[in-house]
Amino acid sequence: MNVLSGFDDTIAAIATPPGIGAIGVIRLSGKTAIPVADAIFKGKKLEAQPSHTVHFGHIIAPEDGSLIDEVVVTLFKSPKSYTGEDVVEISGHGSSYILQRILEAAITAGARLAKAGEYTQRAFLNGKLDLTQAEAVADLIAADSQAQQQAALQQLRGGFSGDLEKLREQLINFAALIELELDFSDEDVEFADREQFRILISNLKSQISNLLHSFRLGNVIKNGVSVAIIGKPNAGKSTLLNALLNEERAIVSDIAGTTRDTIEETLNINGVLFRLIDTAGIREHTADQIESIGIERSRKNAEKASLILHLVDVTDPDTSVIEWLKPFAGKTIDVLNKTDQVSGSKSQISNRKSQISISAKKNTGIEALKQLMYERAVGETIHTENTIVTNARHFDALSRMMESLEAIEAGMRAGLTGDLLSIDIRRTLHYLGEITGQVEVDRDILGTIFGKFCIGK
Ligand code: GDP
Repeated sequence: MNVLSGFDDTIAAIATPPGIGAIGVIRLSGKTAIPVADAIFKGKKLEAQPSHTVHFGHIIAPEDGSLIDEVVVTLFKSPKSYTGEDVVEISGHGSSYILQRILEAAITAGARLAKAGEYTQRAFLNGKLDLTQAEAVADLIAADSQAQQQAALQQLRGGFSGDLEKLREQLINFAALIELELDFSDEDVEFADREQFRILISNLKSQISNLLHSFRLGNVIKNGVSVAIIGKPNAGKSTLLNALLNEERAIVSDIAGTTRDTIEETLNINGVLFRLIDTAGIREHTADQIESIGIERSRKNAEKASLILHLVDVTDPDTSVIEWLKPFAGKTIDVLNKTDQVSGSKSQISNRKSQISISAKKNTGIEALKQLMYERAVGETIHTENTIVTNARHFDALSRMMESLEAIEAGMRAGLTGDLLSIDIRRTLHYLGEITGQVEVDRDILGTIFGKFCIGK
């Protein structure tokens, strides 16, 4: 890595979120982190203290020696710290004013303000984390469901990196054998048994294909599942919405248009977020709108959604499927509502695969509907101990690895010589290295990855 720049300086930032809290933390990292802290800290001399110790004292303004705060300071000496550098964390009282004053004091004493994600970037550049782990830190901070948290944690703990390392070793062995053969090319030897190669490539392909396949699930975990509730006026959409959200907040009424609320609400099913889109639309439509704007809006929602709940009132004489909804059958669940009003067998739509009977008003069948939604959108139990690719950048690089492996296979079939095969093997290794950051990664890509972090992380 030769993107090490500005590494002689010490960075400082408030690491806790803005607003008032009991405690706020200012974090310093860099070669002079400890002397900078010593310059503003009145207590024990930090330079003389061992790593991983905590010290009580005061922060003093460097310009006039006035008291700023009573604090606790934690020391982490290089290399045993998050960034790999000397790190000092100052825990002060959580007022933004005080934290800002401490930060200013640290800057006057020689630190500079950290950029977004700079601590994690340093951790990466100092070899404390690989790129996938650094990205997992960002995912972990952004996690708002259990599945997101678990997938990010698995990646942070090196699960994905471990998988990639195994792939890399196999490829390197392969490349080494082929390249050895080149050295002896005059003698017409084949060290690398072609049949074994074919097996190896096909194993690698199936491992990568599993990772690629996991991205569908990863995407679901990371972005949630968008759900549209579609149905004629009075089918019971608002009532279902409330039943799903398990709340009485929105007012349901026979008079259409009396309910209005936020645009999108979320529902957590087995740790995965389901985003109910355009809930205001559901609550706002009126009977005469359904013919014009209503349909247009519903159609757009149906297109956008990855799952459609098509709500049908079984007491309605016409329970046929809305015509324009038919092309979306693949992502639709027909939800037959108001079954409390009819007896058993009437509640069926013919020729439709995925259907379920409920009563939104009586709250029956709602749990089963949730499980069906999960089954349709996620389709499997999430084993977060397995690697789940949640990142489009990784997916991209894995796809390119797959293409290179296919090129190797084709090359072998065509009887290409080892030197040509080795080019494709090197290319595969290159894409793999891009994922973990083992090969030099474009500065723009690094910028995008670390720019997503908050300042102080
Ligand atoms: P929307 O126009 O599709 O949003 O329909 P609403 O949720 O406003 O419901 C229309 C009417 O149907 C209301 O009077 C609801 O109480 C009633 N309703 C909704 N679900 C059920 C149900 O499962 N059983 C019965 N009996 N009535 C229901």
